Amino acid sequence: MAVQVVQDYPMFIDGEAVPSSSGEWIEVQNPATGEIVGRVPAGTAADVDRAVAAARAAFNDGRWRSKWIPERVAILNKLADLLDEHHDEIARLETAQTGTTLKFRMDNDTPFAPDNLRFFAGAIRHLEGQAAAEYSPDHTSMVRREPLGVVGQVAPWNYPFMMAIWKVGPALAAGNSVVLKPATATPLTTIRLAELAKEAGLPDGVLNVVTGRGDVVGTAIAAHPDVDLVSLTGDSETGRKIQAAASSNLKRVHLELGGKAPFIVYADADLDAAARGAVAGGFINAGQDCTAATRIYVESPVYHDFLRLLKGYVESVRVGDPLDPSTDMGTLISQAQVERVDGFVQRAKQAGATILTGGERASVPGFERGAFYQPTIVVDCAQDSEIVQQEVFGPVLTVLPFDTEEEVLAKANDTKYGLASSVWTHDVFKAMHAAKALDFGAVWVNDHLPITSEMPHGGFKQSGF
Ligand code: NAD
Repeated sequence: MAVQVVQDYPMFIDGEAVPSSSGEWIEVQNPATGEIVGRVPAGTAADVDRAVAAARAAFNDGRWRSKWIPERVAILNKLADLLDEHHDEIARLETAQTGTTLKFRMDNDTPFAPDNLRFFAGAIRHLEGQAAAEYSPDHTSMVRREPLGVVGQVAPWNYPFMMAIWKVGPALAAGNSVVLKPATATPLTTIRLAELAKEAGLPDGVLNVVTGRGDVVGTAIAAHPDVDLVSLTGDSETGRKIQAAASSNLKRVHLELGGKAPFIVYADADLDAAARGAVAGGFINAGQDCTAATRIYVESPVYHDFLRLLKGYVESVRVGDPLDPSTDMGTLISQAQVERVDGFVQRAKQAGATILTGGERASVPGFERGAFYQPTIVVDCAQDSEIVQQEVFGPVLTVLPFDTEEEVLAKANDTKYGLASSVWTHDVFKAMHAAKALDFGAVWVNDHLPITSEMPHGGFKQSGF
């Protein structure tokens, strides 16, 4: 089914599609073609006030949180069913606003999102806690789990739909009301989510979506005196700003931030599997992934063999039309992101690094305005260099050799981030040691990337909490 290109996607407050109080609109561009996919309202602080008031009213009168849990669960499951029904439409709209491949959105995001929603709907049915008991004379004590109230949520552009689900699933299942801001560049599927939630029977005011700029709408949500928790998935720098703004009423803060995942290849590993894993792990979503494999450390005796394999696989990645099923990698989110990624690569070169392959914008016939960048391998770079330490958020792998286990574990941990990592070896002792020694929320063994709804996705250090 082709996407119906609707020019205007009003935001969603108190169950209604509404424009911004400013009357201004923001255009959403397809990064592959440069075409305008739609327009969303440029939300204001007044719009956030309106949405928070609607969410508060919905919370206070209990229209959602006081429903029997099986009723809440049935509505969330109905929403998951609607997401399945609209799978094709959502994947196409996501591709249109992000430029990443339709194949990837179809295989990855749109099946995962309803599964994740069903997981949280199921989780609320069997809450765990301390048993009620008599801990003092004549009293029975028990712990109740309560919703917090109004939850403000701010989402990124790399997985717009999936991140929206990750945010609203647990908050809604627990009985909260939500004010959600999608990223400025990618609001369209989130608006569709709010529309489908209404269709599923979610009461008005429980899920509100305010579109617009981060420094306007996101700041207003984070600072709002009547928001009880603010949750951000985004850059660590944005996390700092949100945490500071949230201090005004001491609201709770939930941050899922950046990453710079190490990918450790020991000499005894299946090198071919590791090279393939590095390509999948590094170029997923064109490298715009917080868990992307970005720092590849390879034990010295196999360093050159691994590089040869890796280079071959990287050069076989097909960059092109996101809608073509044979395309492996589409665009980055924007031309500005291409500039940013290229800036990292050029500065690495000036600092003495070697570009083994890639390192330039990719040209795709018929897509002259497309934000494409070549899959890139950078070698001969120092551990303390910018390209190894900073989040590039594009299709760029750095590869560094190492000599000892102690050395590589120290180098892997030598980062301000702590989200994801992987280790490739046949030696179970090395794998288990790495799982303990690596300061990352996830340590994969002989794989990189898989996520499931049942496992936590959290960070150490500046990757959030
Ligand atoms: P970003 O921080 O620029 O934007 C995220 C959201 O914050 C957007 O909605 C944006 O409009 C808003 N925002 C921007 N400035 C703000 C401000 N001053 N106050 C309030 N809100 C503001 O991040 P991005 O570029 O959209 O996403 C990429 C980042 O997200 C990367 O760092 C990536 O690693 C991270 N990420 C983390 C996870 C995770 O689970 N840890 C998942 C996906 C992405």
